[in-house]
Amino acid sequence: MLLDGKAALVTGASRGIGRAIAVRLAEEGAKVAINYAGNDAAAAETKALVEAAGSEAILLKADVADKEACAKLIEDTAAEFGSIDILVNNAGITRDALLLRMKDEDFDAVIDTNLRSVFHLTRAAAKLMMKKRKGRIVNMSSIVGIIGNAGQTNYAAAKAGVIGLTKSAAKELASRGITVNAVAPGFIGTDMTAVLPESAKEALLSEIPLKRMGDPKDVAEAVLFLASDQAAYITGQVLNVDGGLVM
Ligand code: NAP
Repeated sequence: MLLDGKAALVTGASRGIGRAIAVRLAEEGAKVAINYAGNDAAAAETKALVEAAGSEAILLKADVADKEACAKLIEDTAAEFGSIDILVNNAGITRDALLLRMKDEDFDAVIDTNLRSVFHLTRAAAKLMMKKRKGRIVNMSSIVGIIGNAGQTNYAAAKAGVIGLTKSAAKELASRGITVNAVAPGFIGTDMTAVLPESAKEALLSEIPLKRMGDPKDVAEAVLFLASDQAAYITGQVLNVDGGLVM
């Protein structure tokens, strides 16, 4: 197994991409701390799936937009599993609106949840990983952070910010044995994309060379790779998982 005995924290792991990551890491032997915002039933289902994969899980309900909650997430993971080897900053939200109609609170909510959280969690996890001189941090960006998207100035700014943060942290932490990479999914079938109108989905699909939307498992495989020793010589990179949409 690729991650035998490793301790991982996956934020936003109750549903969608985060759940697929939690389960895939568990299948490879990692113990998983499952963070989520409020959906207790979905989180319990992820926990059951991790356990069915033969590993251990704990549930950590916490708002990653809250600075103190981020510090506690890292503390609680390390307290439960003895360390933190892998951090996957996956939690994310959308609050879409055209620029002129976007409310300040919608801009701030997306920046706080999708970007500021990555700063707080990465800083807290890096402190522990530096002591072990080893660690893996994988941040969830989006192709929207690379190419932009009408109606998503807040989300695109946050996801572009995640890429800048990833590269800077990778440079700072490389000498301590910690790699920091980002994954940039395209159009993946989750609750986040289920709300898109059919016409928008069809337009997107027609642009994807591999002619299908992604499955959360497609993203989980990329995260697993970057979290494993197989990616020991890769840091500061952005891996697009998008069916070839952006190349
Ligand atoms: P999703 O299905 O909407 O699930 C979001 C997850 O994040 C849930 O587990 C949710 O917890 C959690 N969450 C939301 N706000 C949180 C907060 N403040 N604190 C802690 N957890 C929070 O989303 P998804 O599609 O799987 O997306 C996962 C990540 O991939 C996000 O960063 C997203 O931006 C990125 N992404 C997605 C796509 C796509 O096409 N789906 C494309 C590119 C990038 P609850 O269940 O408790 O609400």
